[in-house]
Amino acid sequence: MQQPNALLACFDPPPKLTVVRERGDSLSRRHPWVFEQALVRPPKNLPLGVTVELVDGKGRFAGRGSYNCESRIAVRMMTYDENELVTETLWAQRIADAVGRRAALADSDTDAYRLVFSENDLLPGLIVDRYGDYVVFQTLSAGASLWRDTIARALVAVCQPRGLFERSDGDDRRQHEGLEPSIGTLYGDEPPEHLLIRQDGLTFGVDIRAGHKTGFYLDQRQNRRALAAYCAGADVLNGFSYTGGFGVYAGAAGAKSVVHLDSSAPALELCRENVERNGVAGEHEYLCENAFGALRAMRDEGRTFDVVVLDPPKFASSKQHLEKAARGYKELNLSAIKLLRPGGVLATFSCSGAMERPLFYRAVAEAAKDAGRDLLLEAELGHPTDHPTLLSFPEGSYLKGLIARVV
Ligand code: SAH
Repeated sequence: MQQPNALLACFDPPPKLTVVRERGDSLSRRHPWVFEQALVRPPKNLPLGVTVELVDGKGRFAGRGSYNCESRIAVRMMTYDENELVTETLWAQRIADAVGRRAALADSDTDAYRLVFSENDLLPGLIVDRYGDYVVFQTLSAGASLWRDTIARALVAVCQPRGLFERSDGDDRRQHEGLEPSIGTLYGDEPPEHLLIRQDGLTFGVDIRAGHKTGFYLDQRQNRRALAAYCAGADVLNGFSYTGGFGVYAGAAGAKSVVHLDSSAPALELCRENVERNGVAGEHEYLCENAFGALRAMRDEGRTFDVVVLDPPKFASSKQHLEKAARGYKELNLSAIKLLRPGGVLATFSCSGAMERPLFYRAVAEAAKDAGRDLLLEAELGHPTDHPTLLSFPEGSYLKGLIARVV
């Protein structure tokens, strides 16, 4: 491992930037982002991610964070305490604290979960996931990227993994920060092509090199469990199946049949392996198609289901795309509701951070109205405990879902 570039990460003392303070501003709410417009003459010549000190117009201390002149989010806050310096020790301590908060999650039934959830664990821009004996991390901000070697050393010391893998790629947030992709093993063994993990006693193969996010949708663990309770003897449509998460849980709960629908052939191939690897119940069908068209086609063929899952990718990356996203959710949910038998169950999700829960519910309710059916909300779903939300940071709560019964 390389030595940290301490010079870049922390000028001593850090450069001071003046921030415009207003009553109720983001800093006073301890929101971890400061936008470019809130800074007085933001400098263009500081290295990406460098630690800066924010002061108000009278020179009074307001906090410290990492600075990126290329991003709309100019400063990501690390501390509001004048006595707390942003050092290697602070990053290492916060990583150890976050990992410590998950200690109760480790058991023989589940060995893959999130260890660090970025701003929500007071580590802006850093994602760390445990996959069995391996640890995978991703830096999504210039600040976290600059501290990469510190982060790697801390993770090796705290988690003692068999291998540490970096997956800092494939996310538009890194592009917005002006960062190049960085992928590879930083410590220990190379991970196998398909790493086997345990989720509630089920086994999943995960491609941590090229899979979505860091390889698996760890955020849906609790929701898969909630859905399984509806699946005994059911015909299930697993829309946007990816590598099988919901469908494998459904099979394990005794589903009569599961249709796994996804537009990605490699994801469906791994889905098939995951179904077979668990020897779960039911007939399993794999459909590699665009879900929008496939749901309509099933309707035309007169197919019906007891349970439909909709877990699409993010439709709205920012507030500007909300209206279009709401239309997309409505269309998809309308098609799904039309496929449900009386008393059937819809499990539907949105992982668009910009789409707040009431707006998403409204889109689903409008879909039910257009289908001429009533939906009874039976469960409101969100993140599991390894994906906590910092309450001063609503953006951290991106995953929302519901289970509703059609009457
Ligand atoms: N439910 C999954 C995660 C879904 S992620 C789980 O539990 O692991 C979203 C999935 O939607 C991805 O696998 C992606 O390939 C797929 N996808 C994206 N656009 C699609 C489309 N138009 N039709 C079908 N699948 C799509």
